[in-house]
Amino acid sequence: MAEVVLKQVDKIYENGFHAVKKIDLVIPDKQFTVIVGPSGCGKTTTLRMIAGLETVSSGEISIDGKVVNDISPKDRDIAMVFQNYALYPHMTVYENMAFGLKMRKYKNTEIKERVNEAAEILDITKYLDKKPKVLSGGQRQRVAVGRAIVRKPNVFLFDEPLSNLDAKLRVQMRAELQKLHNKLQTTMIYVTHDQMEAMTMGEQIVIMKDGIIHQICDPIVMYNQPVNKFVAGFIGSPSMNFITGTIKNRDNSLFFTSGDNVNLIIFKDHIPEMEKYAGKEVFLGFRPENVDDKIFVPDAKPFTSIKATADVIEPMGSEIYIYFKTAHTGFTGRFDPRIKIKSGDTIEIILDMEHVHFFDKETEKKIV
Ligand code: ATP
Repeated sequence: MAEVVLKQVDKIYENGFHAVKKIDLVIPDKQFTVIVGPSGCGKTTTLRMIAGLETVSSGEISIDGKVVNDISPKDRDIAMVFQNYALYPHMTVYENMAFGLKMRKYKNTEIKERVNEAAEILDITKYLDKKPKVLSGGQRQRVAVGRAIVRKPNVFLFDEPLSNLDAKLRVQMRAELQKLHNKLQTTMIYVTHDQMEAMTMGEQIVIMKDGIIHQICDPIVMYNQPVNKFVAGFIGSPSMNFITGTIKNRDNSLFFTSGDNVNLIIFKDHIPEMEKYAGKEVFLGFRPENVDDKIFVPDAKPFTSIKATADVIEPMGSEIYIYFKTAHTGFTGRFDPRIKIKSGDTIEIILDMEHVHFFDKETEKKIV
């Protein structure tokens, strides 16, 4: 049982920089939690405070029900894997993995058993007598993970462990870490700036910006129900599109209008909340997959389309991204690769108004 709980945790660095601002966070036992956010949002600081490598300015961190604020890193029963593998170059893979256990005065037979077991799990047995310099980046990262596994900690902390790997290896290691988690059934906290890593690996995602947690939930909820414009724009690739416009009452219907000759009728379920914004400016948000060429939506309702000109076309193989321009703005659409749109074509794009989002212009919080 290793639940990690942060209560009102605050971090002000010596130079006065307020890196983490009174965050509350519960990381359930055995769960894979990903802390994600843009550079400088405070995610590494948070992880380092859990590890004990950074002091807490105020608030409380507990692991397994025990407050650890004043407990040294080595006594917290955690293991951390860093981005720069931090392997000892003069030691073999075996010695690197055994080092921590040796320092803790484990018996040689126990060390051997644990290193061999971890090497097997990570498929690095054949490299045990090699030095790190002859290993590839992926193999070195596996050794770094192995060094953490042998400790059999209650909590694993990962700080951007895949950033130094090439794209293909990253995808492979992502899957391996998930398998490892299934096998070890240990609490894992993983920090990344990569929303794709967060979406694919996290059972729970914690999204941060400017030292504040904006949302904590599972990946699909975060994708479909972002609490504000920042979360909506950060999660998902290509990003959600945003258009600024005004909510208007006309002929007993409610519309979103913008200078681009955009007149979109508000979906019936959104009316109760959106009515309160009549006459006010809001952000309309829609995902690239919630648009389509009008010729494929013959029964589209009136006032659900935007006239736009295809600008850049990016074929991705299984799908195609098209960047559209309108007079004042632009947006991205995700299409079937067989679609016949060329750069320069002006077409009517239908928006799936049932699945659009609206955000308050001032607070940027979700309205619907
Ligand atoms: P990145 O992905 O770039 O590592 P991050 O979200 O992990 O970003 P942190 O490393 O937690 O961010 O840093 C948060 C903020 O605190 C940054 O603006 C950083 O410059 C600042 N910071 C980090 N360490 C210190 C320090 N020792 N003294 C002063 N400010 C610091």
